[in-house]
Amino acid sequence: MFYSAMAEPSASGNTHPTYRQTMLDKPTYGHPGPAPSAPALRQVLAEWFDAISFWKDRTRLLPAAYAAYHFATFLVFVWFLTTHFSIASVLTVLLCACFIGTVYNTVWYHRFGSHQAFKFRSVWFARAFLWTNPICLREESYVIPHRIHHAKSDEPGDPYGPHLGWLGSYLATETQQKTNRNLTAAEYERLVKSLEHVGLMSNTYEHYRRTGSVENVWHYFARVVFVHLFWGILAWAAAGWWGVWAWISGVFLLSFMVRDFNYRGHSALTGTHKPGEPVNQFVYGLIAGEWHENHHQYPRLARSGLAWWQVDAPYWIIRAMKVCGIVSQCNSQVPPARFQPSDAQIVV
Ligand SMILES: [Zn+2]
Ligand SMILES: [Zn+2]
Repeated sequence: MFYSAMAEPSASGNTHPTYRQTMLDKPTYGHPGPAPSAPALRQVLAEWFDAISFWKDRTRLLPAAYAAYHFATFLVFVWFLTTHFSIASVLTVLLCACFIGTVYNTVWYHRFGSHQAFKFRSVWFARAFLWTNPICLREESYVIPHRIHHAKSDEPGDPYGPHLGWLGSYLATETQQKTNRNLTAAEYERLVKSLEHVGLMSNTYEHYRRTGSVENVWHYFARVVFVHLFWGILAWAAAGWWGVWAWISGVFLLSFMVRDFNYRGHSALTGTHKPGEPVNQFVYGLIAGEWHENHHQYPRLARSGLAWWQVDAPYWIIRAMKVCGIVSQCNSQVPPARFQPSDAQIVV
């Protein structure tokens, strides 16, 4: 469905929605969405059920499967930490979550996938990240909404953030997977091109229209199986089944933190920011290098920690990959202008 409310007149005088505005399907509570107050609980739940309603639309199987996976890892997390509670188990789960958050959320999804803040020397290095990404959220499901998030930050139309309330933002991981299958062939080609650096096996236009997924679904399925074997065997080799449960618990904890961050990273908790503005959260900066206020000022930088005390482990990893020759180029110079005009170069 197109966002008719956002339609703009074209040069020829016809009315059509712009490309960026048609990337995601329209939320059930309307577009651009409720503002300034958050949607009511009933509206949030209705939107989430719509996003997973595979009985009405089989393309919603992908977000439904992701929601089921999140819930399954939650059960493992609760079971593991109640039946195997110890300092060692808590620390291991925290360390697993920090590792996944730093490497796969910040370096991979965020700085590389969404912002192309650095370049790999070969697409095969990108594929190594793709095939070992334990979060299992399809890269397009992170990248596309995130680019809209930057373009619409703090405004209605932002796919997640405080304007949806905590639960609305938490459940947005499913609702932002509602893609618009009515893109034209040319629009779809641009979308594919904007994700080329990630190293996906892309669907044809016809398959996209049928599945709502840019990535070939069998390719995605194969790497989900592979990644569970890969990390499962490593965790088992390190600490037996205890290690496997700790790893899965870490996957849940990280996914929980990312969903929470989508709300909290823009909250006015410090009292010095307007509601909805990005905030440098100390905890999320420390564990995953997400100094979000800095990041919104310089979205294409490969680093977010700008003050000496703002730890930025993901940037150290990118620098280390540059020294090893895995990364060929990274944006590390802070631009002289305080605010970048936009992220237009990479927003599709
Ligand atoms: Zn943000
Ligand atoms: Zn970003």
